[in-house]
Amino acid sequence: MMQALFYTGPEQMELRDTELPSLNVGESRVRVLATGICGSDLHAYHGHDPRRVPPMILGHEAAGEVIEGPLAGKRVTMNPLVVCGHCDYCLEGRQNLCSNRTMLGMNRPGTFAESVVVPDQCLIELPDGLSSVAAALTEPAATALHAINRLERSLTRPLAEASTLVIGAGAVGLLTGLMLRQRGVRHLTLADTNPLRRETAEKAGLTVIDPRETPLDADSIEAVFDCVGASATRAMAVQATRPGGSLMHLGLQDNEGRFDMRSVTLKELIVLGAYTYTPNDLRATVDLLASGALGPLDWVETRALDAGAGAFADLVAGQTAAAKIVLTP
Ligand SMILES: [Zn+2]
Ligand SMILES: [Zn+2]
Repeated sequence: MMQALFYTGPEQMELRDTELPSLNVGESRVRVLATGICGSDLHAYHGHDPRRVPPMILGHEAAGEVIEGPLAGKRVTMNPLVVCGHCDYCLEGRQNLCSNRTMLGMNRPGTFAESVVVPDQCLIELPDGLSSVAAALTEPAATALHAINRLERSLTRPLAEASTLVIGAGAVGLLTGLMLRQRGVRHLTLADTNPLRRETAEKAGLTVIDPRETPLDADSIEAVFDCVGASATRAMAVQATRPGGSLMHLGLQDNEGRFDMRSVTLKELIVLGAYTYTPNDLRATVDLLASGALGPLDWVETRALDAGAGAFADLVAGQTAAAKIVLTP
């Protein structure tokens, strides 16, 4: 038996005892040491994600120790995307678009549990110097890395020379900011309306504004990352991007409102989407986190698994300064 945090219905989380999931050929059992709560888990918690059907165990950002499988005894993080390996996308190295993919915490049991069963191919060994809590950031950090790499290829001059704006200082926004700084980007601003999140970003040494108090100049930024993905942030992003610039849309908050395609045309903008990460992105992210280049990562807050339901409630109420809460089963 194991304990797991079950999503049982809209705004309901319950710690339950449950059977250990059975292990198939090619799969490992991992004892979860640290697992982060993602915006998409919150989205599901509100009952807004038809792909996540209760009762189920959410969670897909995790690090742990393999207890059964070829890497037994090793500490690992995991690629929550389970891909087929033989479709066109997999073969061209764009596994994030795999036509046959499934995902931990979505259509497979997730990581808000004492243990999780994961295909061996999804496991990435961790270097000794990287803590499990920091390693649980691999998934959101790889999302940021994938988006930065995609946007970088669209620019006509080096990324480090471009003025950049990151909208949203949640985990992905904050990690995008920290990675852009690590890439040597000098003109870098974050924007968030939540004062607690601004405080966290400031402590991490980033420049952050409240866009309601400090409106951005129109047509002023070459590279804009919308890590929120709401109608207001999309409008802000299109307005702030300067002619010829690039706009990366990676938040998934809503799909409301109009998108100003007239400005996209007249300003000749490049609008890009980015979805998750490839296995290469994940491995590069583990190295980056282990190198210490993203700073002390002390903005992560840890809580016990049995405090998970409370953590969800605090996140929904905006009552935590932490850009990421990591549960430690
Ligand atoms: Zn996530
Ligand atoms: Zn595939």
